[in-house]
Amino acid sequence: MQDEHAALGQRAQGGVQRLARDAQTLGEQGLRAPSPPLVPATLTEPVAPVTVDRTPPARISPPLRGAGWLDGDSCCRLGAHRGAVSPIDGQLWAPERFAIDYVQTDPAGRMMTGPPTDIASYPYVGSDIFAVADGPVVGLVGDLPQQPPGMSPSGLTLQQYGGDHVVQDIDGGRYAFSAHLQTGNPLNLAVGQQLTRGQVVGKLGNSGNTDAPHLHFHVMDRPDPLAANGLPFEFDSFTLEGRVTSEESLQQGTAGPVPFRIDRRLPVGAVTPPGWFARREHRRGKTGTTAVVAPPVTPDDRSGESAGVSAVTVVEPSPSRDVTRDD
Ligand SMILES: [Zn+2]
Repeated sequence: MQDEHAALGQRAQGGVQRLARDAQTLGEQGLRAPSPPLVPATLTEPVAPVTVDRTPPARISPPLRGAGWLDGDSCCRLGAHRGAVSPIDGQLWAPERFAIDYVQTDPAGRMMTGPPTDIASYPYVGSDIFAVADGPVVGLVGDLPQQPPGMSPSGLTLQQYGGDHVVQDIDGGRYAFSAHLQTGNPLNLAVGQQLTRGQVVGKLGNSGNTDAPHLHFHVMDRPDPLAANGLPFEFDSFTLEGRVTSEESLQQGTAGPVPFRIDRRLPVGAVTPPGWFARREHRRGKTGTTAVVAPPVTPDDRSGESAGVSAVTVVEPSPSRDVTRDD
């Protein structure tokens, strides 16, 4: 190992000397040095063996229905979800790496109709959240308060981050997690209760570590929402409505009652069931890739293919439903 370190050190030193030479040469020629590659085009290094899990993604139904659901901070760039690694009980966990934060846009393309600090500004609060597959409830919290929107809460314990939530075992080893729900247990759910796909499990709210109403949804390999690793999933169908065009628009649309700028020109082949889906992370200052989808849902990977560009999605399980396009 020491030899390897020495070799790496020599290589780095050689690179620095080479850069200095290049800079001097270019300086003499009156040119600005281009940024050199940090590593050669081809590089072979011994690394630790890595086991690649080739289990197909869980195929599930969307947790929400209706048009205009904006999908935040999804799979394909390093954002607040994908980058979240938590040290818990002496281990590192990445439960949110495929997570979605959903908010809904109104017919005018806005996430809120009034001040961000007023819960009444968010028309989608109270939306039904649905079981994405068959399986039993394995975790349930419903006694945490709603947080005032427009600010991040303080003083929460780690266990309170997910707020009121439901964890469901969806196939004997994969678990669906729906978080930040409204306080209470309006459906009288119980741990151990068998749910069927499409059954209502709760209402969208603003409990736990959240600064605006949204549904945080992810699939994981253990029932603990934080001490688990996130797993990929795909929706059985959905319709992609468009994409938010820029980070700037995403910031504006999450800061006040400003319509998102949404590009509804879909790429060839992007249509129909299974469509795509999208998501958005609207924790202020942590916005990420977003997409807008309509009806039914889809694979995580397709939503965030263009780095830095957000999209909007409407999620709805009924393929027969018309999707309103307001552009
Ligand atoms: Zn989230």
